[in-house]
Order: sequence, then structure tokens, then C-alpha cells
Amino acid sequence: MIVVMRPDHTPQQVQAVMERLVQFGLQGQTIHGVEREVIAGLGQVLQDHRDEISMMPGVDEVIRVSKPYKLSSREVHPKYTIVDLPHGVRVGGGRPVFMAGPCAIESEDQLMAAARGVRKAGAHVLRGGAFKPRSSPYSFQGLGLEALKLLRAAGDEVGMPVITECLSVRDVDVCAQYSDVLQIGARNMQNFVLLQEVGKTGKPVLLKRGMSATIEEWLLASEYVMSQNNPNLILCERGIRTFETATRNTLDLNAVALVKRLSHLPIIADPSHGTGKWYLVRPMSMASLAAGADGLMIEVHPNPDHALSDGAQSLTPANFADLAEEARRLADALSRPFAEPPAAAATA
Ligand code: PEP
Ligand code: MN
Repeated sequence: MIVVMRPDHTPQQVQAVMERLVQFGLQGQTIHGVEREVIAGLGQVLQDHRDEISMMPGVDEVIRVSKPYKLSSREVHPKYTIVDLPHGVRVGGGRPVFMAGPCAIESEDQLMAAARGVRKAGAHVLRGGAFKPRSSPYSFQGLGLEALKLLRAAGDEVGMPVITECLSVRDVDVCAQYSDVLQIGARNMQNFVLLQEVGKTGKPVLLKRGMSATIEEWLLASEYVMSQNNPNLILCERGIRTFETATRNTLDLNAVALVKRLSHLPIIADPSHGTGKWYLVRPMSMASLAAGADGLMIEVHPNPDHALSDGAQSLTPANFADLAEEARRLADALSRPFAEPPAAAATA
């Protein structure tokens, strides 16, 4: 940190700051400028240190130099992380993947139709919600354990790893038992106890960005998972709340490009929740890839008009197949071709 002293500071005040830095285990170095005197505080600087120094007499302001997140930062870990999933699927490392499937699992028929459709179109990971975080308690809440069993069976049948949202600490064990990837939804991005619990399972975790979270808060949230000795983290930009009401959320593609610079973690985009409109999913998928996304999460339902959740933003399997085709062509043009689909032959 850089401690900027007030123009009217006294030598005793500089001395007091230097002594406090030593008490914090930091090293202080004074720099005499033409107009100002500043002190560089070197070492492991915590937020509490900065807060305390900023309140000391004679101090004008304290400026942070290094990033507050460490485990997810590229400053600390320059090599890109690749998250390995079953069936040879790898997320990160420059070759995008598709995660696709219904918002919520409604029945075996519905899930299998979606699973076969997305598998045939070349998707890598099958998604499906068992525990749904609905805004209204009167809306469909998901089939719970029954849905987890259907998801596992569907993934095994079509030969794809599966992902589902883990809504609460209560569900961590059962989600980890049935799913290959544990999704933390936007509404839970700062549920720190849940982040620690999913981290402890050692399973890959997909952390969605909170709808009002800054990029820094998001990366700090990722530290809660990674600090449990779990490096298998994938970030997902799913749109943020802005003043705009014409779309459900505003898909923040700045975040995709910036996170690629700030962090070594893979980041995928979710244009389904990011737009809320099925006809915007395809163009925003292309934009996400162009911005550097390591993959796309897309909601697919065999009959979106009758979906029990998020029908308006869901694609039919046929529309998903068109999107996948166009996305592959774009990725080739960007010299970042999609990863090969899972190796096991689909029984579809
Ligand atoms: C979902 O993936 O269906 C979901 C609820 O997403 P989010 O947490 O981004 O709203
Ligand atoms: Mn959804």
C-alpha cells in the first residue's frame, strides 16, 4: 500500500505510521516528493491494516497496490487453469465448451429429449436444475433428489458430465453424490458458508456472478472455494442488473475480457440468463466467444412454450444445433476451436 501524508503532517506522525507498519509485520519506506511525502508499506497488507493506517493523524489517503484476491489472481498464478471433467472434457486452456440442457428438470422424457438433442449438436456438459432458486415461493421449485437421479442417469446414458445447482448447505452432499460439477447460482455468490462447503467436496465448482456483484467481489468469492484446497473452479458471467429493462439482465462482456486478464480461472458466459430472450441467445453467444469466453452455458428445452421455468430464454434442440454450428465456425475463425465433444459414443 501507499500511504499519502497530508501536506501539513509532522515528522512525529510519519514516525507513528512507520512504527504501526512494523507492528503489522510490514516494512515502511518513506519517499519525499516535491509536494508530498508518501510511505510505501511493503508485505502482506490486509484490508484491516489499510483501514487502521488511513485513520491515523497526518494521513491523507491510503492507496492499494496489489489485488485483494490471491488464489484466483494471475499475479500469483500466471498459468491458465484447466478443469478436468469426466468423459475427457476439459474446461479452460483456450478451447471452448458448451454446457447445455434445461433450466429445470421436469420429467425423464423432457430431460432425455434435451440431453439427446444437445449431445447430438456437440455439447460437452449436460446441465439441469434440481433445486431451483425461484423469485416466488409459489413457482416450480424443482424436483429435488428425483431430478438429481434423472440427471445422473441421463448423463450416463448420453455419455456427458453433468452440472446442477447446489442451492444450500443442506444439499451439498447429495449434489456432490450425483453431479460432476456443482453450480453456485447468482443469488448465492456471497453465501460464504455454502462456498466453503462446496469447496470441501473437491468437486469442480461453477461460480456464477451475483447479479449486483462487482468483478472484485466475484473473484473474492472464488477464494472461499479455492481456499478449501479446491483449485477446480470455473467462473460464469450470467448478466448483471442495470437500469435497462428491455432485457432480463445485461450480459457484461467487459467482465469476460477483464477476468481473462485478472485471473487464470476459466470463464464461461450464460447468454440465456444474460438476456432472458431466446432470440438474443445466439448473437450474444457469438459476442461472448469473441470476448474470449471459455465456453457457453445455454438453456435448452424440447418445448420451451411449456417449460416450468425460463421458457422465454430457452432454445429448442434444433435452435441449439444451429447456434452450435455457427459458434464452431466463429471459434475456428478466432483460432480457438471448440473442444472435441466427449469421447464416449452417444447412445442417442
Ligand atoms: C440457472 O442456471 O438456471 C440459474 C438459476 O441461474 P442464475 O443463478 O444465473 O440465475
Ligand atoms: Mn434458468
